[in-house]
Amino acid sequence: MNLVIALVGRPNVGKSTLFNQMTRSRDALVADFPGLTRDRKYGEGNYENQRFIVIDTGGLMGDELGLDAAMAKQSLQAVEEADIVLFIVDGRAGVMPGDQVLADQLRRSGTQAHLVINKTDGQDPNLVASDFYALGFQSQFRIAASHNRGVRSMLEILLPTPEEDADIDGAHNHPGIRIGIVGRPNVGKSTLVNRMLGEERVVVYDLPGTTRDSIYIPYERLGQEYTLIDTAGVRRRKNVREVVEKFSIIKTLQAIDDAHVVILVIDAREGLVDQDMHLMGFVLSAGRSLVIAINKWDGMNGEDRDKVKEQIRRRLDFLDYADKHYISALHGSGVGVMYQSVNACYESAMAKWPTNRLTTILEDAIAQHQPPMVHGRRIKLRYAHQGGSNPPTVVVHGNQTDSLPGAYKRYLENSFRKVLAVTGTPIRFEFRSSE
Ligand code: GDP
Ligand code: GDP
Repeated sequence: MNLVIALVGRPNVGKSTLFNQMTRSRDALVADFPGLTRDRKYGEGNYENQRFIVIDTGGLMGDELGLDAAMAKQSLQAVEEADIVLFIVDGRAGVMPGDQVLADQLRRSGTQAHLVINKTDGQDPNLVASDFYALGFQSQFRIAASHNRGVRSMLEILLPTPEEDADIDGAHNHPGIRIGIVGRPNVGKSTLVNRMLGEERVVVYDLPGTTRDSIYIPYERLGQEYTLIDTAGVRRRKNVREVVEKFSIIKTLQAIDDAHVVILVIDAREGLVDQDMHLMGFVLSAGRSLVIAINKWDGMNGEDRDKVKEQIRRRLDFLDYADKHYISALHGSGVGVMYQSVNACYESAMAKWPTNRLTTILEDAIAQHQPPMVHGRRIKLRYAHQGGSNPPTVVVHGNQTDSLPGAYKRYLENSFRKVLAVTGTPIRFEFRSSE
């Protein structure tokens, strides 16, 4: 389970600049997914191997920008659920009325926030800070997000040490293949969870102490252990209010992170919508295996089915390695078969490959298609070894690897994927250059 950091503040104080700085280290390791725009509001960060989730709550002060109420509500909820709230202000503008309003709002909600004074570049640090004491925060950081100044030392202080983190991380206590069920509200997650647990030959164990976030349900099916990560909270739902508020982006992001395999549920009757694509982007950038369940397939006529299939084919052509299942969670059709994909995904995510095998694949790929020249010299890729699992990570050593174009990285990923028969999971590449 990762720490969640929420960024709060008026428009233009530098939230998205900070967001980019905090998530950038992560991006560098991930090949681009053509055809997929990533949600700029939710990202993964990595500082000294400490992973965290960053949320830019741009919508919080958004009413004047005409952002819809649902989004503002998600943002507020995100603030409440976050582990760390950073309240960003503009060190050049000084304290603005909006800052005061937000600070009061945070205080009223009981959320503990740290004050982050941004845009301190070229300013006298002492002068900058004094103004903001009036906002009444106990701790404050001074940064210049656009110069990436002060950001790392802030994270150093905010993030737990790896030892502390080991205490927080409970995900690994859950047995077997961890399956995260995610999707927008009303796509049928709860129905699917109930269906998967209610299937014949499924033995559901007693729930151990539940965590703060999603519900982890251990069970066994055909001799294989699984833990279902239920973001919809089926098993815990008690009253109507909870039904309304059950969708939580943080739960969703945590579930993705904790999972080996994510089943992304899509509502066939609505087709693919932007939020589906954003969730997909998060699954892929978190490096998780993905199975796509197109739900509510029952009772749709042939013409509508063709339309949905065509849309999926067109918009998800970059995801040809992920299995798609057309299912009815309500009636159960297609649900059992999904386990074959889940199991195959898990195997791919956890596979171990010897160095000589990876290096041979690299050599063959280069022989068929050389990396380009940079500054009159050809980029050299020498050998590859495995850097980790879930996501399977291939570390490639060579020269000038910083200049390797995205298209070539994708070519490499496809070559490795084909030979290694990796299904459902992205392969992450890290490039190490000796010059
Ligand atoms: P947001 O609306 O809070 O997400 O703010 P943005 O990240 O879009 O930043 C608003 C403006 O402030 C942009 O023009 C940024 O380039 C600028 N900005 C952000 N951080 C800094 C900083 O540390 N120093 C300076 N001088 N400008 C910054
Ligand atoms: P969640 O918000 O994603 O957990 O969605 P729910 O499981 O609560 O389902 C939302 C609505 O869709 C409910 O009325 C379900 O009965 C309905 N639903 C779920 N799965 C199916 C399905 O496979 N077919 C049909 N026709 N309706 C479904």
